[in-house]
Amino acid sequence: HVSTKPPPEPSPLRKAKFFQANMRILVTGGAGFIGSHLVDKLMENEKNEVIVADNYFTGSKDNLKKWIGHPRFELIRHDVTEPLLIEVDQIYHLACPASPIFYKYNPVKTIKTNVIGTLNMLGLAKRTGARILLTSTSEVYGDPLVHPQDETYWGNVNPIGVRSCYDEGKRVAETLMFDYHRQHGIEIRIARIFNTYGPRMNIDDGRVVSNFIAQAIRDEPLTVQLPGTQTRSFCYVSDMVNGLMRLMDGENTGPINIGNPGEFTMLELAENVKELINPEVKIITVENTPDDPRQRKPDITKAKELLGWEPKVKLRDGLPLMEEDFRDRLGISRKK
Ligand code: NAD
Ligand code: UDP
Ligand code: UDP
Repeated sequence: HVSTKPPPEPSPLRKAKFFQANMRILVTGGAGFIGSHLVDKLMENEKNEVIVADNYFTGSKDNLKKWIGHPRFELIRHDVTEPLLIEVDQIYHLACPASPIFYKYNPVKTIKTNVIGTLNMLGLAKRTGARILLTSTSEVYGDPLVHPQDETYWGNVNPIGVRSCYDEGKRVAETLMFDYHRQHGIEIRIARIFNTYGPRMNIDDGRVVSNFIAQAIRDEPLTVQLPGTQTRSFCYVSDMVNGLMRLMDGENTGPINIGNPGEFTMLELAENVKELINPEVKIITVENTPDDPRQRKPDITKAKELLGWEPKVKLRDGLPLMEEDFRDRLGISRKK
């Protein structure tokens, strides 16, 4: 039996929802490196309204200057360890210092940001019904005994070391996400981000790619921390942002590794930077810091299968894009 009646009119409430064209998206930590690139991408969609909440600890308004004053954009000075009462549909929760120098600077604040900050954002998600994505980290795998790391690996983390405020903080943040999901039905997404690089990284934040590029531009020796055979896998920021958005808009909670599986020793990275940016620069070895993971490389099978995502930018193509931005900010042009 086929009904010839027209479909019923949607209720006024459904109509209101339908015509509420805009998606209101909160990005915590949106004034930072990855956050500001994410904001750029989200703002490209005219249906998105973007709200950034940031305390400017490691981020800067400069990263968002092209959006300040835009009718679909709002910037709030806010510390996520304090409650936040706004109305949103999606939350990208990035707020947390990411460079070892900064997260070790005030470790108690780092763990509060991860634990209380994530709890508050989950409370906000619960009250508004928003979907929330946490940017967790490959550091949850600690100094991994499994290589490459896939999402089933539980990690090898020192609970009382100088990195623990960050590693263990993110591990608790993941726990909170899953507890809110199971107990309150919150829609969650967890990305485990591997080392990311690109324009707008803090020039002096001590991370290896930003250090080497700034050193090469300033004609200072590249400081490879011993032993130099430790490995990392570097993902260009535009690939990272695409991966995060796929995860948010897809159907899988994660955790899902997002990173570039191309693996380099720190000595190889230094050689690449030298060759591409300043063939005259020296490479020296210096002391390392405690608990430095010896190897790191993502297994991205899950991201490929579940998100249809994989990185596109190779290290040797990404480094020159970052060089340009660093030269602009340092005011040092390439020698002719
Ligand atoms: P970033 O330091 O550039 O950005 C972090 C932002 O969070 C900054 O703008 C900072 O001011 C803000 N912030 C810090 N504490 C806050 C607080 N209590 N309240 C409000 N805002 C606060 O770092 P990023 O590289 O852009 O990293 C973004 C996220 O991605 C972080 O959660 C980090 O743990 C995660 N991540 C990054 C990498 C990487 O390689 N960059 C790797 C793994 C995970
Ligand atoms: N919270 C927030 N914004 C909201 C709702 C809650 O920041 O819109 C905070 C709230 O202050 C609390 C945390 O999120 O500290 C967890 O909230 P939840 O409702 O889950 O727990 P409860 O308030 O019952 O402890
Ligand atoms: N590193 C280095 N020289 C530097 C800074 C870092 O050789 O000037 C090394 C560091 O020992 C580590 C790797 O680079 O093995 C990545 O360090 P980073 O702080 O960038 O990130 P994370 O340790 O969080 O992966």
